[in-house]
Amino acid sequence: MSAIAFDNSYVRLPQHFFANVHPATVSNPQLIRLNRELAVELGIDPEWLGAADGLAMLSGNRLPPGAQPIAQAYAGHQFGGWVPQLGDGRAILLGEVVGSDGSRRDIQLKGSGRTPFSRGGDGKAALGPVLREYVLSEAMAALRVPTTRALAAVITGDIVRREQALPGAIFTRVASSHIRVGTFQFFYGQNDVDGLRHLADYAIERHYPEAKQAEHPYQAFLEAVIAAQAKLIAQWMHLGFIHGVMNTDNMTVSGETIDYGPCAFLDEFHPEKVFSSIDRNGRYAWSNQPVAGHWNLTRHAETLLPLLSHHGAEARAIAESALATFAGQFSNHYAAGFRAKLGLKPDSAANDVFISDTLSTLAEQKIDYTIFFRRLTQVAAGGDNERLSCLFVSADAFISWFTKWREATQPSGDDFPARLTTMRSVNPIRIPRNHRVEEAIQQAHTTGGLTAFNRLIAATAEPFEENGEFAEFELAPQPNEVVCKTFCGT
Ligand code: AMP
Ligand code: MG
Repeated sequence: MSAIAFDNSYVRLPQHFFANVHPATVSNPQLIRLNRELAVELGIDPEWLGAADGLAMLSGNRLPPGAQPIAQAYAGHQFGGWVPQLGDGRAILLGEVVGSDGSRRDIQLKGSGRTPFSRGGDGKAALGPVLREYVLSEAMAALRVPTTRALAAVITGDIVRREQALPGAIFTRVASSHIRVGTFQFFYGQNDVDGLRHLADYAIERHYPEAKQAEHPYQAFLEAVIAAQAKLIAQWMHLGFIHGVMNTDNMTVSGETIDYGPCAFLDEFHPEKVFSSIDRNGRYAWSNQPVAGHWNLTRHAETLLPLLSHHGAEARAIAESALATFAGQFSNHYAAGFRAKLGLKPDSAANDVFISDTLSTLAEQKIDYTIFFRRLTQVAAGGDNERLSCLFVSADAFISWFTKWREATQPSGDDFPARLTTMRSVNPIRIPRNHRVEEAIQQAHTTGGLTAFNRLIAATAEPFEENGEFAEFELAPQPNEVVCKTFCGT
């Protein structure tokens, strides 16, 4: 019996959906970290995964029976520019498993060599981006945001050449699927309506089986993807998360966050904040994420036009009316999340102005986003105002904002304790701050040590729980620690 009960459905799709590939072998694989709980959820024995045969799989050196390695074809708009063929150039899907919870998930190696989609690249990954994706994706899961997960990271023992020679590594990504808006665009770009129908049927079966019962399943599918993304993007924004590279090939139809390249949690709040070194025009700035999301969903809707109706005008009308719901859905999630964070009454639309005033105040006063909501939660719990007020540059600005907050929340009201409980459950105490991520990567690069990496993961595993042991992870960066730019690392 195989150690992993692979049940691979994507390879049963038409041959031009993917390329059969084989991972490259590596010289001296060593485990960096294993996610034992996730292995158990996937029905994989963590002891096996951590031992020789498991390591052989995680490094691509030898695959267990049942694996059917492929690279998936996809296309995409990158920063608005159309690329008809992208595909897994640096990732290899080993296969799928159905976990103990009944859900089907992909197991994919990232960084295990060239595929027919590698174009000019080497298909490899460097240690830094692998550590980054591990930390960020697991922190997002702990923050209860839908996301791809980290099953393992290994160092390969080989060198990867970027601007400099770097240690090579492989990341094992788990996702409810890797189907992207760009996967649909791949077939749409070739006028391959059969391919589109196959893919849509597959995605419906896998992610939105209830859409099959709808009167118009493809319309229901489009609506479900729009709903999932409206919610996801609002969740990112509540946490001060900037994805950084919201290209259509980096947007899943499942509604999971994918592709932790140049992403970052902001420290000091500013709505126009951008970290990615390649995002020169602020296309994917914090506040522009719903705009970018809507743009991507419009591309997604376009690909479904041939399936929505045989009549072009009717298909467009269906797509447009689905897309028109995005703004309202996003705004509802956005406002509800900020009401929860601020302790406002859950159903009071009158608070929308107060929410936008609060965000303007945070930007004007250059306040650390996470610390602000954390200290506000403490004040709401009866703590003294001092630690909150000292975040403001101007004492008057604090008094004016705080007076409005008290009016809006009425902390003496009977229903306030329930709102305080909510505040505690939505305002994280610790997030994976950029300078901490950088520190972990630097340590691994310079000494090979993983203590900072492992400690950062431990610190962000239960982000809503008080834990004095990890107090330093609550702090904003010192001026000399601030990270202004993040890089894709490809
Ligand atoms: P990303 O910017 O990570 O979303 O990647 C965009 C595209 O570039 C995808 O098709 C990747 O597979 C491909 N890619 C990124 N890095 C590499 C690499 N080192 N080798 C081959 N392809 C790559
Ligand atoms: Mg990508």
